[in-house]
Amino acid sequence: MIQISDRFRILFRCQRNRCPRCGEGRLMTGLFKLVDACPNCHFKLDRGEGFFLGALPINYFVIVVYWMLPIMALWIFAKVLSYQVALTLIGIGMVLGPIFLYTYSKLLWLGTYYFWLAHELEETPSEA
Ligand SMILES: [Zn+2]
Repeated sequence: MIQISDRFRILFRCQRNRCPRCGEGRLMTGLFKLVDACPNCHFKLDRGEGFFLGALPINYFVIVVYWMLPIMALWIFAKVLSYQVALTLIGIGMVLGPIFLYTYSKLLWLGTYYFWLAHELEETPSEA
């Protein structure tokens, strides 16, 4: 049986740009490039067509929670930002944020996926 601490270890490995299986290989080689397999243990990341669709709601969630809501709080509650500035910043973030978070949200998805289905880490074939 997989312990909860092992599941969180998998999640933190992915957040730190490390392979969910071995924790060693770097998965992001650039801002927009994710490797096909772990350079250390050759764990194949892509499980097939549509596997990384789960990264889309994670990307959206991160942009809304860490960009849009703080700006709205500064505009509505703190009254530090004007209406025009807040909407401009939100608009810029809603366009550029998903682009820059594209690859990292895939890592977060990998961590979330294997957090719940940790037994699949051993069942997933390694790339030759
Ligand atoms: Zn690995």
